[in-house]
Amino acid sequence: MKKIILTGDRPTGKLHLGHFVGSIRNRLKLQNEGNYDEMYIMIADDQALTDNFDNPKKVRDNVMEVALDYLACGIDPSKVTIFIQSEIPALTELTFYYMNLVTLSRLLRNPTVKSEVKLRGFEESIPSGFLNYPVSQTADITAFKANIIPVGDDQLPMIEQAREIVHSFNRVYGDTLVEPNALLPDKEVCRRLPGIDGKAKMSKSLGNCIYLDDSDEEIKKKVMQMYTDPDHVKVSDPGKIEGNVVFTYLDVFCEDKHFKQYLPEYQNLTDLKEHYQKGGVGDVTIKQFLNNILCEVIKPIRERKRELENNLDYVLDVLKKGVEKANLKANETLKEVKEHIGIDYFTNPNYLEEMKEKYQNPKD
Ligand code: ATP
Ligand code: MG
Repeated sequence: MKKIILTGDRPTGKLHLGHFVGSIRNRLKLQNEGNYDEMYIMIADDQALTDNFDNPKKVRDNVMEVALDYLACGIDPSKVTIFIQSEIPALTELTFYYMNLVTLSRLLRNPTVKSEVKLRGFEESIPSGFLNYPVSQTADITAFKANIIPVGDDQLPMIEQAREIVHSFNRVYGDTLVEPNALLPDKEVCRRLPGIDGKAKMSKSLGNCIYLDDSDEEIKKKVMQMYTDPDHVKVSDPGKIEGNVVFTYLDVFCEDKHFKQYLPEYQNLTDLKEHYQKGGVGDVTIKQFLNNILCEVIKPIRERKRELENNLDYVLDVLKKGVEKANLKANETLKEVKEHIGIDYFTNPNYLEEMKEKYQNPKD
């Protein structure tokens, strides 16, 4: 079976460290290993409009922002098709057909939809477009016959929903669509990176993010604000690791080489954790250490982004070429879908024959 990869992001803001460890790092790994047939990355502007319909400028502006972030992170347009969702009309058509295969109560039970409805204050009246976004996400995935979807764990209910729709479609209309599988990061903590407040996942909507183009000063300010252990008041106090965001981030980003460079008193993270738990390590020490590491991760991305900002014609051209390629593939799938449903009146010569047969040889 072909290996086809598809992922996307909502253009509702800049990309942050949660995107980086939850999805982008896996995309880069797949891209660089090259062991796939096709790879697509979608900027989901239609999906972003489902809860930002009254602020289209935000979505419009962030399409370029997200495209810049992708290229700055090292997504290579010669290997990956980057495209804008709203430019692919087949996706909207597919959504319409798939809506028949999902009940309202199933959509309302989707755990990610549930929590997002609450977060957005939609409990009283949910825009039907928003409620349907898992269906449109199924269209995005199946249009490209994608079977590998690198995502964070908030997307698991979406992939499950997509698999159900694929099953229903294939059962009702015959084998057409391909079942997708989520590809989660190996490390558990990367599947849902908490925000700097430690309360929930890092998310644009919650304003608890470190962005991939933050300046050294911004990174420092945010790291210094990070939630640690409220009972660790004096340096000599024993400190807790669990729920301590600084250690969560160190688990994700720290490598042994960083100790030699920035904190040579310790061999590795296990040593540092042991000492912190015993007492004798200050929060400022661990924060400064993390700050050095995060600055090192973000600096090259930020610098590439600043260069690309002077080359927006190139970025728009990448999107335009991606859209052309994506349309070819999505239109092919739409054609197949319509053939399987039987709504292919002009492209299927059998239609006329069938109708002639029906009217010329009536059964009774
Ligand atoms: P919004 O608040 O607008 O929903 P978001 O920050 O949740 O934005 P999305 O565009 O919805 O970002 O997510 C894009 C991808 O990044 C998804 O695959 C999602 O699982 C992943 N992702 C987002 N935030 C995190 C996080 N904190 N940890 C791990 N993965 C994440
Ligand atoms: Mg989200």
